[in-house]
Amino acid sequence: MEKNIPFEQAREIMLANCPVAGAENAPLSGSMGRILAEDVLAVTDIPPFPRSPFDGYAFRAADSAGASRQNPVTLRIIEEIPAGSTPSKAIIAGTAAKILTGAPIPDGADTVVMYELTEFTDDFVKIFSMAAPGTDIVPAGEDVQAGMVLAKKGDLIDPALAGSLASQGIAAMLVYQRPKVGIISTGSELVEADQPISGGSIRNSNRYALEAACAGIGAEPVYLGRADDNTDEIAALIGKGLESCLMVFTSGGVSVGDYDFTPAAMELAGAEVLVRGLRLKPGGACAYGVKDGRLIFGLSGNPSSAMTNFYAVALPCLRKLCGHRRFLPRMTKVTLIDSFNKKSPNTRIISGRLDISDGTVRMRASVMQGNSILRTLVGCDVMAVIPAGSPPLAAGTVLDAYLLY
Ligand code: AMP
Ligand code: MG
Repeated sequence: MEKNIPFEQAREIMLANCPVAGAENAPLSGSMGRILAEDVLAVTDIPPFPRSPFDGYAFRAADSAGASRQNPVTLRIIEEIPAGSTPSKAIIAGTAAKILTGAPIPDGADTVVMYELTEFTDDFVKIFSMAAPGTDIVPAGEDVQAGMVLAKKGDLIDPALAGSLASQGIAAMLVYQRPKVGIISTGSELVEADQPISGGSIRNSNRYALEAACAGIGAEPVYLGRADDNTDEIAALIGKGLESCLMVFTSGGVSVGDYDFTPAAMELAGAEVLVRGLRLKPGGACAYGVKDGRLIFGLSGNPSSAMTNFYAVALPCLRKLCGHRRFLPRMTKVTLIDSFNKKSPNTRIISGRLDISDGTVRMRASVMQGNSILRTLVGCDVMAVIPAGSPPLAAGTVLDAYLLY
């Protein structure tokens, strides 16, 4: 077991132990945001044939030799080719076809002129300038060439990929299953959001924050229930979670106080505790375990500690579990807009919002940062890392930062 290690090291340990969800066949429609579980090769050129980029006339460039405003060339129209039809005649010298946007270029033609640049009747079209062969013809395969890798296993199905798959006639494909992720709240003081509250009780907020975090990544959160501060009860819920879920989150009971039973409960449930505590503020209190290739992330009860720890270590694991090829968070440098007035004896993570309005990547850090301050995490999209041993930081300080999305 590793104790009080840097979060990057804990992340490596947990990623190395992290499972990946199984795969299933899913219809393309409705698969937006899911992750491909197979490489996809293009089977056909897109477009599949040379086509016209607009309404106009298709002809042989050689016929336009010497054409000018004063000396137009007149061509005889032999056919009209709307989109979706197949040309039935070849273009020969002195002839043209009326062609509409997206229609296949007829044999013999090597040029298209848009109709606005011509004068025409039903039977004849006048061309007023010389064209080079190939002018305004969209070649077959301009977008996608048959045989190319269209997408890789682990790619997110975004709008353009959904459209590209459809262009290939792929109406179903292998994607990763949405993994079930268990959530357990520990703490005798906790009351659910819809229950009456009294005395020293507090609302269970971590359950909902973690449910939202898991769902946001594409996992299926499963609330396993609340346990009192009692090793057996916590272990029973962990055991239940490990039966049906590939990953389980607990919150509460991971410090080193009298009522911190979660690490012992992990062991009682048969898990090996791999990490106990990070050198990090907030979010240092944690215990991570593994059992039969399934991960348990024991997070602090303090809401923002839990979320900071989640973003630093669990989020990349959750992304890996969901099948993402790029599971590590994207990094950038951010310039602090305001000063940060505390010393950081340990590595510190501060949350905030990106400001890229003037072309520089800046971060407006939340004014209140602390173990139990959840409100100021709302809307945050970046976390910056203040290195251990840093003095208070002046505005304008540049920090490494993780994008949360
Ligand atoms: P613990 O990590 O169990 O020592 O809890 C630390 C603090 O977080 C205490 O003030 C708890 O009451 C609070 N807390 C624990 N679990 C939750 C939860 N699920 N939602 C909100 N606050 C919690
Ligand atoms: Mg507690």
